[in-house]
Amino acid sequence: MKNITVIGAGTMGNGIAHVFAHNGYQVQLFDINKSALDNALSTISKNMDRQIEKEKLSQAEKDSALGRLHAGTNLEHAVKEANIIVEAATENKSLKFQIFKELDDLAPKNCILATNTSSISITEIAAQTSRPEKVIGMHFMNPVPIMKLVEIIRGYSTSDEVCDQIIKVSTSLGKVPVACNDYPGFVANRILIPMINEAIISLHEGVAGVEEIDAIMKLGMAHPMGPLQLADFIGLDVCLSILNVLYNGLGNPKYAPCPLLVNMVHAGKLGVKSKEGFYDYSNGVKEAPISSQFK
Ligand code: NAD
Repeated sequence: MKNITVIGAGTMGNGIAHVFAHNGYQVQLFDINKSALDNALSTISKNMDRQIEKEKLSQAEKDSALGRLHAGTNLEHAVKEANIIVEAATENKSLKFQIFKELDDLAPKNCILATNTSSISITEIAAQTSRPEKVIGMHFMNPVPIMKLVEIIRGYSTSDEVCDQIIKVSTSLGKVPVACNDYPGFVANRILIPMINEAIISLHEGVAGVEEIDAIMKLGMAHPMGPLQLADFIGLDVCLSILNVLYNGLGNPKYAPCPLLVNMVHAGKLGVKSKEGFYDYSNGVKEAPISSQFK
């Protein structure tokens, strides 16, 4: 279990490649987009420099970790020796189905196919392959080098052996794996995202303003950040897509996305990544809300 391939070099893919390389694994990082790979390599290097400053990593460890990390746009080459593939491409069902069909064709027959999906059914992804017992959810949290949890999701057909192997591998990364079954939103997002939606509904109904809602939840519940700031950090489009999975998958109106969230996504106000969400990030830091919708 030494050869890892990471599919997708975005926010999560670069973090996942970072922790595997740091912990002694040989890593192939694949993306269809060359500039995503270049950005990922530079982000990993910068994040490792930060770990050096905090004395959590030495320069020599950084150099050897980067020596174990290979990036490329040739899928066949990236997967040919993989023991485990962790897919972290864009959250889109048909895209992931297509990727898993290709991985099933190209990867060695005993290779485990894991996905970092936030909400798409592991069982449905597994059904695209001829090895559903080897398909599993390996849900890292953002930012990957810092967050301890890996939510391990067993699909309907995932074997106990594969689940045990992925738990061992997660532990070897210094993470704490916690297993659950495959139902919409799994555990983390089934609980977190409705809380975020309720915060947006409270704002929409005028119960309180953005900063007041966040301050109450941060100080009152000892959360490191308020739910609206967290929504900006996750991405409002991602929050909306997970709510739709919960709403459609569980058939309960309590998961209906708040109309304000839907409007903001339609308006392209996606949070940190679009520089505006509940807060303003146009100066590179979080500043007070600017939208008249929130007054
Ligand atoms: P992102 O948009 O930052 O990166 C996605 C990457 O996938 C891009 O670099 C894109 O070029 C690449 N990609 C698209 N099609 C591809 C293909 N066919 N083959 C290979 N690469 C392809 O997205 P992200 O935030 O890193 O999310 C990735 C996955 O992780 C999603 O499933 C998401 O739900 C999940 N996730 C995200 C977070 C989060 O906080 N962002 C947290 C946990 C899980």
